Amino acid sequence: ADAFLSVRDLRVRFSTEDGTVHAVDGISFDLARGRTLGVVGESGSGKSVTGLSVLGLHDPRTTEVTGRILLDGQEVTGAREKTLERLRGARMAMVFQDSLTALSPYHTVGEQIAEPYRRHTGASRREARRRAIEMLGRVGIPSPRLRADDYPHQFSGGMRQRAMIAMALVCDPGLLIADEPTTALDVTVQAQILDLLEDLRQEFGSAIVLITHDLGVVAEIADDVLVMYAGRVVERGPAAEVLRSPRHPYTRGLLGSVPRLDGDVEEDLVPVPGSPPSLLDPPSGCAFHPRCAFTGEVGGTRCADERPKPPGGRGAACHLTADRARALFAGRTRPR
Ligand code: SF4
Ligand code: MG
Repeated sequence: ADAFLSVRDLRVRFSTEDGTVHAVDGISFDLARGRTLGVVGESGSGKSVTGLSVLGLHDPRTTEVTGRILLDGQEVTGAREKTLERLRGARMAMVFQDSLTALSPYHTVGEQIAEPYRRHTGASRREARRRAIEMLGRVGIPSPRLRADDYPHQFSGGMRQRAMIAMALVCDPGLLIADEPTTALDVTVQAQILDLLEDLRQEFGSAIVLITHDLGVVAEIADDVLVMYAGRVVERGPAAEVLRSPRHPYTRGLLGSVPRLDGDVEEDLVPVPGSPPSLLDPPSGCAFHPRCAFTGEVGGTRCADERPKPPGGRGAACHLTADRARALFAGRTRPR
């Protein structure tokens, strides 16, 4: 009821020379303030496209977006560019994987954090600079007053990521979409950035959509999780439950490929065999069926013929019953 972000039956299609790409094929979810939703899947599963749709960043000349996206009760789908520009930064903001392309090399870090603040609040130059320095301090940049005058290349990768988070949160946007925010960083810095996001969520009360291919990241900070495959939601639920007791064979496969923290990786490292399907011509029935090891358990050609219903609450889009999945996966999921 108190969803800050509400997405209903979102579909995104791209026209290409080869045909229509069904990048997102009917997904729905709600997200409340102060909650973190992990959106997980391989590349090409539609998770980044979903994030871009929420921000209204698709080019309407090549992209058809249908369904409904409401941000704090305000319509995003079909909104005019002027409205979207006002919403972006002030009400919702995005953090990307690659801070070097997201930040301009020609302006100081301080200027780049101050600029959206000035634009959205009408603050003076001096006031915006003060705010930029304050934000740099809050994301853990030492000596923020001095570092505000540095250019992005003078920052380490981890510090640039912190600066980008400061830029995203400078207007206290309510919704933060973070797309693989730690993927380019080494493990120690990754953990620091995730801690930072967690702290900021508590401090600002933001809703966070965290897009990642890494279930380890989800385990770290997400409350709830959506697992996506071929532009559809294949499993959803509270993150701890999904990780402990997956119900979809694809989620099970992803869990098998999470390296153990104790370094004992080899024998348990079972990535999902095969590769993601073409979204120009997705497989019939359950889109996962060409890669699934459990079609025989369902029997006949049902998996190839019949598309499983997307889960509404906790559950999976799979013809296996929850009990059957639990029994089949038992012993296959390594203890965490
Ligand atoms: Fe596998 Fe069939 Fe379930 Fe799809 S519906 S995940 S193919 S068992
Ligand atoms: Mg992506």
